[in-house]
Amino acid sequence: MIHQTIRACSIWRALDVVGDVPVLLILEQAFLGQHRFDEFVEGTGLARSVVSNRLTKLVEAGVLAKAAQRQKGYALTGMGRTLFPVALMILRWQHRWEPAGRGFSVRLVHRDCGHAMEPVPNCSACHREIDPREVDWAPGPGLAQVTPAYTRRRQQTAAASAKRGNRTMVDSVIELFGDRWATLVVRACFTGIHRFDDIQRDTLMATNILAGRIERLLAQDIIRAVPYSAHQDRFEYRLTRKGRDLYPVLLALLQWGDAWFADDKGPPLLLTHRTCGHSLDLAPSCSACGGALSIANTAFEV
Ligand SMILES: [Zn+2]
Ligand SMILES: [Zn+2]
Repeated sequence: MIHQTIRACSIWRALDVVGDVPVLLILEQAFLGQHRFDEFVEGTGLARSVVSNRLTKLVEAGVLAKAAQRQKGYALTGMGRTLFPVALMILRWQHRWEPAGRGFSVRLVHRDCGHAMEPVPNCSACHREIDPREVDWAPGPGLAQVTPAYTRRRQQTAAASAKRGNRTMVDSVIELFGDRWATLVVRACFTGIHRFDDIQRDTLMATNILAGRIERLLAQDIIRAVPYSAHQDRFEYRLTRKGRDLYPVLLALLQWGDAWFADDKGPPLLLTHRTCGHSLDLAPSCSACGGALSIANTAFEV
C-alpha cells in the first residue's frame, strides 16, 4: 500500500501546536499579560473545559509553564515568547483588514521611541519591508513528506462561538490559522499552486472539505476565482491583496517552526530575499521609528 504524503514544511509543524482557534485566543491573552485560569476564561470567552484542555496541551508542548504557586497561573516559556513575531503579524493583519471585526482592538506602543505604532515585517538584513513577490524559495535539506493525520479533535464550533460580552473573539485571521486545512490552501497559493486538482494533490484533502475551505476563503475575500480556460467555467484561485498580506504571519510561523522543530538535516525550506540577496529573516519593526520590536520593548494596550 502506498501512503500519500504532503510537504511537511515548518509551517505545518508549527500549526500542529498552534493551529487551533482556542489555542490562538489563549496565546493572545498570554501576550496581553494574563496568567490565571479565570483570566483566560474571561479574556477568550471560551468554555472552562476548552480552556483547561488547551492550557494542558500548551504546557505539554512547552509553550506555557505552570507556576509553582497555583494562584500565579501560567506563563509563556522561552519557546512561547518566541511566538511574539507571530502575535505581532496577526495583529498587523487585523488592524489593516478587519479593524472593526472583533469590537475591540489592541494598541501597540514601542517603548524605545514612545510612539503608538504598527509592526512592519522588515528583512533583518536590508531593513526593507518584505514583499512575498520578492522572496525566492527552494526545498531545504530537511524537507520531509508526511502522511497527514487529519482528525476531528479540534472543537471549531466551541471556538466559533467564543464571545466576550457581545464581542466576537474570532475573526478571519484567527479562523484561518486555527484551521490547518484552510492554511494549507493558502500555503498552496503562495507556492504557485492555484487549481483545484493541484491544491487537492498538494494537501490530500477530501474534495468536499477542500471545496468547503475554498468557499469560505472566497467569502472572506482571501482568495478570488479567476477563469483560466476559454470556456470561463474553469477557475484558478489567486490570493487577493488581503490574502497576500497574510504572508508575514506564515513567515513568522515558518521561522518559529524552523527554530523549534527542524531536525539535524536543517530547515525544510530555504527562503531568499531577492531584494538584498540574503536568506530571509523576518524582523518585526516599529512603523514610527524603524527600530526592532521585542517582547521587552513593546507594550500592548486593549
Ligand atoms: Zn533583505
Ligand atoms: Zn519606535
